[in-house]
Amino acid sequence: MTSAEETDYLVIGAGATAMAFVDTLLSESEATITIVDRRYRAGGHWNDAYTFVGLHQPSAFYGVPSRELGDGVKDETGPNAGFYSLSSGPEVVAYFDAVMRQRFLPSRRVRFLSMCDFVGREGSVAEVVSLTSGEKRSIRARRFVDGTLAQTHIPATHPPKYDVARDVTLIPLNDLPSLKRAYANYTVIGSGKTGIDACLWLLQNDVPPDRIRWIMPQDAWWLDRAFFQPGVEFFDQSIGSNCEQFDCIAEATSIEDLFCRLETGGLLHRLDEAVEPTSYRCAVVSIGEREQLRRIANVVRLGRVRAISGDRLAMEKGTLPSDPDTLYIDCSASAITPPPNVPVFDGDTINLLMLRACQPTFSGAVIGFVEARFIDPAEKNALCDPVPSPERPLDWLTMWGATLRNLGRWAANPEVRAWMAGCRLNPINAFLRGINPSDAEKGQMLQAMREKSARAAQQIPALLASRS
Ligand SMILES: Cc1cc2nc3c(=O)[nH]c(=O)nc-3n(C[C@H](O)[C@H](O)[C@H](O)COP(=O)(O)OP(=O)(O)OC[C@H]3O[C@@H](n4cnc5c(N)ncnc54)[C@H](O)[C@@H]3O)c2cc1C
Repeated sequence: MTSAEETDYLVIGAGATAMAFVDTLLSESEATITIVDRRYRAGGHWNDAYTFVGLHQPSAFYGVPSRELGDGVKDETGPNAGFYSLSSGPEVVAYFDAVMRQRFLPSRRVRFLSMCDFVGREGSVAEVVSLTSGEKRSIRARRFVDGTLAQTHIPATHPPKYDVARDVTLIPLNDLPSLKRAYANYTVIGSGKTGIDACLWLLQNDVPPDRIRWIMPQDAWWLDRAFFQPGVEFFDQSIGSNCEQFDCIAEATSIEDLFCRLETGGLLHRLDEAVEPTSYRCAVVSIGEREQLRRIANVVRLGRVRAISGDRLAMEKGTLPSDPDTLYIDCSASAITPPPNVPVFDGDTINLLMLRACQPTFSGAVIGFVEARFIDPAEKNALCDPVPSPERPLDWLTMWGATLRNLGRWAANPEVRAWMAGCRLNPINAFLRGINPSDAEKGQMLQAMREKSARAAQQIPALLASRS
C-alpha cells in the first residue's frame, strides 16, 4: 500500500465560503492546504448557475479578503439604478478562478485537487477519488475543513420534486436565454431568489406581465438593497438603517409589532402588502425590482406544485387550468439548506458555518482567522457561535441575536477587533469607505449605532419569549 500524502488542512469544497477561509489561513499562518472539489474550478455552485445570475448584495463585501470583487461602478439604468452594480455569475466564477490561479497555487502552500470526490476518512487519513481517472489517493491531514455544509441547490442541478407529463415543456431557468420561440404563457414555479430572477428576466426581455403566472408557495420578507451600499455617499442610510433596525427591536412590544415597525420604516418589504410572509431567506431586492415584480398580477398562492399535465397545474391547495402552450420555468430548488447542529471547531474537524447573518464569505474568513490565531477549542468556539439558517420570518430576529452576540465577542477581543478593522469582507468597513476618521458627525452616528445595538441585544431574548 502506498503511503498517504500529507497536508496540514484538507478542505472539502472550493466554494465561496471555503475560498474565504483558505485565503485568510494563507495570510495568517504558514500552513499547507489541500483543497478537494468535485467541480473542475473553484467557485462552487456559481459554476452551475444561470448565465444571468448575479450577486444580490454589492460585491464590496463578497469574495475573499485579499482581493476586490466588482468594478466599483454604479448602475445607471434598470431596476438597480443608482446602486453599485451586482457582479454577474460569470464574473464571480472568473474571480474565484483567478484567486486560485494567481494567489493560492503560486503560494506553493495550496494544492487544488479538482474533479475529485472526498469519499470519507479513517482517523486522520482521507480517501479522495478522481472523477476522471478513477485514481484513489490517501491524504493525511491535521485538520479537516468541511466547506460543503451550505449544500447550495440550484434548479439546473436539482430536478423538480413534482410530476411532469411528457407533453409539458419545463426548463430550469438556466435555459431561458436559449429560447427559440415565444409561448402563450410563462409559468414561473418558485418564490425564492431564482424565481425572482426568472420573473425579472422575462419582464426585461419583453414578455408582457399578463402572460406571466408566478407560482408562489410562500411569500417572503425581503431586505432592501438601498441599505447595503458601500461608501461615504450611502453612509447615512446604511448606518441609519442599522440604527433603525435596532430601535425597532428595542421598542417592539411583540413579534407582530416588530415586523410592523420594520415594514413601516422600509427596513423589510414584500411583494404584496396584503399577504403575510411566512418565509425569510435573506433575499435582497431593490424597490425598483419590487415594482417590476408587482406588474405581475397572476400570482398563485395554492402551495407547492404536485403535478403538471398538458392542460392542468395541480398544487397542494387546488388545481388550475393551463394553456397547453405554456413554458414552465422551474425555480423550485431551495438554495439554502439548514446545516447540521454542530460546532465550528469539532475535534479535528472545522465546520464552515455562518457567523454573521447572511454573510457566508465573511464568516469563512473569520473562522480562518480564529483557527490561525487561537489554540483553545473552547475559546475558538466562543468566538464562532453559528448563526441559525434563515427560513421563517422569526429568523430575521434569531439571526440578529446570534450576530450581535458574535459582534460583541469580536469587539471585546483586541486581536480579532484589529483584524476585523482591516478585513474587506466586514460589512462595516464597506460602509466606512472614504469616511474621514476625524468626521465627528459620522463618529457620533457610529457610537449611537453601538449603543442601540447593545439595547437591541438585551431585548431580543424577551421578544423571542413573548411569542404566543
Ligand atoms: C442564485 C444565488 C445567488 C446568491 N447570491 C448571494 C449573494 O449575493 N450574497 C451572498 O452572500 N450569498 C449569496 N448566495 C448564497 C451562496 O450560496 C453563498 O454566497 C456561497 O456561494 C455558498 O458557497 P459555499 O462554499 O458555502 O457552498 P457551495 O457553493 O455549495 O460549495 C461547496 C462545494 O463543495 C463541493 N463538494 C461537496 N461535496 C463534496 C465532496 N464529497 N467532495 C468534493 N467536493 C465536494 C461542491 O462541488 C461545491 O463546489 C446566493 C446563492 C444563490 C443560489
